[in-house]
Amino acid sequence: MANRSSQRSSGSTKTMGNFDATELSKEFENLMRSKKFNDFQQQSRSKSRTASPAPSESPLSPASTQSPKSSTNRRLPIMPQRPQDTASIKFCNLLHVLSVTPKKYENPGLLDEALTVIPLDRLYAEADDEHQIHQARSASVGKKPQWGYQDFVIQSLLRWFKNSFFTWVNNPQCSKCSMPTIAHGMVPPTPDETARGATRVEGYKCSACGALERFPRYSDVWQLLQTRCGRVGEWANCFTMLCRALGSRVRWVWNSEDYVWTEVYSEHQRRWVHADACEGVWDQPRLYTEGWNRKLSYCIAFSIDGATDVTRRYVRNLMKHGAQRNRVTENVLLFAIYEIRRMRREKLSEQDHRRLRKEDEREEREMRMFTTRALAAEITSLFPGSRQTARDTDHKTPLTQDEDAAQWISGRQQNEHENQGPDSRRDRDNRR
Ligand SMILES: [Zn+2]
Repeated sequence: MANRSSQRSSGSTKTMGNFDATELSKEFENLMRSKKFNDFQQQSRSKSRTASPAPSESPLSPASTQSPKSSTNRRLPIMPQRPQDTASIKFCNLLHVLSVTPKKYENPGLLDEALTVIPLDRLYAEADDEHQIHQARSASVGKKPQWGYQDFVIQSLLRWFKNSFFTWVNNPQCSKCSMPTIAHGMVPPTPDETARGATRVEGYKCSACGALERFPRYSDVWQLLQTRCGRVGEWANCFTMLCRALGSRVRWVWNSEDYVWTEVYSEHQRRWVHADACEGVWDQPRLYTEGWNRKLSYCIAFSIDGATDVTRRYVRNLMKHGAQRNRVTENVLLFAIYEIRRMRREKLSEQDHRRLRKEDEREEREMRMFTTRALAAEITSLFPGSRQTARDTDHKTPLTQDEDAAQWISGRQQNEHENQGPDSRRDRDNRR
């Protein structure tokens, strides 16, 4: 994937001309807010293991009385706030519905079934080879290996999934004459399709013989193991479940700009790693913003242990790539996230609670660091003669891999114009 040779894009230095000091102070505010989030989380957890944070009872609750619009402009700690208006309630309900997705993977029957479709011997052998090479290379330069064996297993799965298992479908082929079809709007699902979990069915008409084709959009992972096709939604859902089947801890990441992907926990690196099955990429969280030049507002990761706002992992430079977060106030978003965590964790042991809390804190520090580094890079770039590049903002990505990523990203940008086939990202836009 890194064989497209081209020059690194200039990254964040391009915004120099438009740089605005008020934006900078907003950034500092965000940093402060993150810290307060963390402090509060700690406090509320030590008070009660099961009750959701109750803003009205908290001694730190001045934010609970502020109006929704003003909340992001105040220098007060963000406090979780129960949604009041219809739009906020609707958004929180959406998050609750989405949060159920990874729960469905925790089914031994499903995971066993998934293991029967994966060529385990092949993937383990590949991973083993790569791991050994990686270890030898690291030893030869006197460094600790960056990745563990399981990380290579997931990377093998990623390649197999994209190249051999799943198929991208824009318009399904005509089943009678194999000619292309033309979209014909939505059609009502049949009882059979409904029973198999398709709530939406797209209609298509053959351009040659006029036959009608149906394309049911399955969200049920059992069904996806059979159909093995779809668009981003189906790809991310099925791939995330397969990672789980291989024993990894997984997250299904939802982005409010209509995209989804996977995060896999690397036990070796003790952090969550980005994985995108559609693109076949591993640990390239800046792909969507710096690679595709998209603006993202919310990226929420859901796992069996709860929900986390991981936007800062994907949007390093909020001024450049952050879309407006106006679906709910930050207070309400925090409330929804705490609620989901509370629900998922209420039956866990004290030991597991502690482990997850530590993990939350470590991730918060990691994401705060992303923001700080991006901000520092932005400031440095203001000085004449600065040679700071986007890479300096990314402390987690290994140097070599990051350069691969940069090459891949700029190669991708060039290919965007040529790549109009069924696998092109453009076709995926708004077609989840
Ligand atoms: Zn036909």
